[in-house]
Amino acid sequence: MPESESATENIIENSPHLGLDDRFTFQCDRHLDCFTQCCQGVSILLTPYDVLQLKRAQGLDSSEFLEGYTFVMQSKEKKIPAVFLKMSGERQTCPFVSDKGCGVYAHRPWACRMYPLGMAEPKDPRQAAQRFYFPIHEDLCHGHGLGGGCTVREWIDNQGIEPFDVNQVSFRQLMGHPGWDQAEALAPDKLAMFYMAAYDLDRFRSFVFDTRFLDLFEVDEARVEALRTADEELLDFAVDWLAFSLFQENRRMKLSKSARARGVPEPTVAAPAEAPL
Ligand code: SF4
Ligand code: SF4
Repeated sequence: MPESESATENIIENSPHLGLDDRFTFQCDRHLDCFTQCCQGVSILLTPYDVLQLKRAQGLDSSEFLEGYTFVMQSKEKKIPAVFLKMSGERQTCPFVSDKGCGVYAHRPWACRMYPLGMAEPKDPRQAAQRFYFPIHEDLCHGHGLGGGCTVREWIDNQGIEPFDVNQVSFRQLMGHPGWDQAEALAPDKLAMFYMAAYDLDRFRSFVFDTRFLDLFEVDEARVEALRTADEELLDFAVDWLAFSLFQENRRMKLSKSARARGVPEPTVAAPAEAPL
């Protein structure tokens, strides 16, 4: 996987742009001499849904997973935390790889599923027609040109990428929000709020249920029940809340009647003091 933003930009510029029905020829095989070479010396940016999948694979809660397996860097562009998989040792090896391959294969991140394809899309991910894909050729990977080939669409199906795309639409929409262009760097409490809601889902769940959060917002009963146990629903809710809190964009968040009656102003809900940033 490409190691930096500038490497990615270079690849995008110099690679063919593929649509869903375009073909490319590639085959990954455990008998290749490059087997698992792609799992070291790489930088893997995790999406909120990747974190959800990996904490599930490890049987950990989100705080434990983030603490043990990730590190945070500030995204230059948007001045917000970006979460990366923590590599280890001299060769910067993924913690999940062994000589048998990927130890979290069923839960592996989006970037690992897509490789050797990259994807570029407009700021609003709902404009899917403008999205394109591009092959990533790296010396370390010897799978290019092998096998009978497939379309991009077949690759996406075979790698189980659809749920990762579906569950990321609203987050990607949030990341493409025009408000970021004007925004100053987020204040520490908002940074912590962003990190908790997007990545530290189990802590966000406590925040929803163990504070007066549900007195402030009107959330229908069925959704409240789903938020207790369904991580995917909670992530969706977290993104709604972030859009509301950061950009006053009202997706599905509504102040409760009692909050309005009490004259509660538009919420800027403080994140817990022990937030890790
Ligand atoms: S998660 Fe799996 S596929 Fe991705 S780098 Fe780690 S071992 Fe390789
Ligand atoms: S072919 Fe490419 S993706 Fe497959 S194991 Fe080798 S380096 Fe990794």
